[in-house]
Amino acid sequence: MKTLLLPPFLFLITACCCTSRLSKEVSKPRDGQPIKSKIAVVYSSNYQISLAGLERLHPFDIQKYKRIFEQLVKDSLVKTSDIFVPEPITKDDILRVHTDKFLNSLKSSKNIAAYIEAPLLSFLPAFILKRAVLRPFQYASGGTLLASRNALLYGVGINIGGGYHHAKPDAGEGFCVYADIPIAIRILQAEGKIKRALVIDLDVHQGNGTAVCLANDDRTFTFSMHQGSIYPIPKEISDLDIELNAGMDDETYLKILSKNLPSLFEKAKPDIVFLVAGCDTFKDDPLASINMTGNGIVKRDWMVIDECLRRNIPIVMTLAGGYSKEAWHIQYKSIRNILEKINPAG
Ligand SMILES: [Zn+2]
Repeated sequence: MKTLLLPPFLFLITACCCTSRLSKEVSKPRDGQPIKSKIAVVYSSNYQISLAGLERLHPFDIQKYKRIFEQLVKDSLVKTSDIFVPEPITKDDILRVHTDKFLNSLKSSKNIAAYIEAPLLSFLPAFILKRAVLRPFQYASGGTLLASRNALLYGVGINIGGGYHHAKPDAGEGFCVYADIPIAIRILQAEGKIKRALVIDLDVHQGNGTAVCLANDDRTFTFSMHQGSIYPIPKEISDLDIELNAGMDDETYLKILSKNLPSLFEKAKPDIVFLVAGCDTFKDDPLASINMTGNGIVKRDWMVIDECLRRNIPIVMTLAGGYSKEAWHIQYKSIRNILEKINPAG
């Protein structure tokens, strides 16, 4: 099977390099313009993992970033010139959180395939996976860093990607390679731009990687609200974990979140907040069974953003998971809501 599989894969990879006009406009690193002087939207066409269809071996819709970006432009909510386009994170950036052992593990196709849960990719040579898989993750992690730098400048940074909350210092897992949020936190701390950070992880899966990367550090506070009965099992220990029962609706979910938000800010005293805004709490998500509607998720994200704005604390939004057909559209609506609701004067 292995020898039969390789040639068509390679053919398809070389056949898949068409780039749209919009994508070309956001491929080179550059600064954009904050919308309403407050919101920096960060994206790069280099986020796109493209293995000629092989990427569909995972339920993650890797096209979702591109779809969200293109719809925001199509609906004139952002211009391509507004977009802040990141550089990829470097090896030195990665080593602020990850180990040498982890970097060495990326030389093996088998390990990369395991991290992104696509075992068939282990049959491809590592140099192909480096370009087609690792490079996009480096750009998207660079996006989280750029969004956080801009959040400190303007108030809000939205990365149309990132939120790889399962990546641990020694290994990736759950479609996460680099721990983008812990890396951004460590860089900003080292530069003296922040001291304290709060991670509010509302993806339906526990932010187990973030919890491990930022464990035993009283300058960071990790909060994860997730379904208890699904991956990852066993869970890691965040500074605060709230486990949700299957079938939970919008009203109950939002009540729990609003009740807990103020005390998070009091405990963490953050200089910056990172929101992991996975939309896999949606009722039709194939990997979970929380019963939220799209509107409920839009309200949830706004609840966190609004809390940060009222407290004048920079906020970085990352997109993380969401595996239903509607995932891209829910996250598009959430970003649209943020762009529309934020008052430039307020
Ligand atoms: Zn998830």
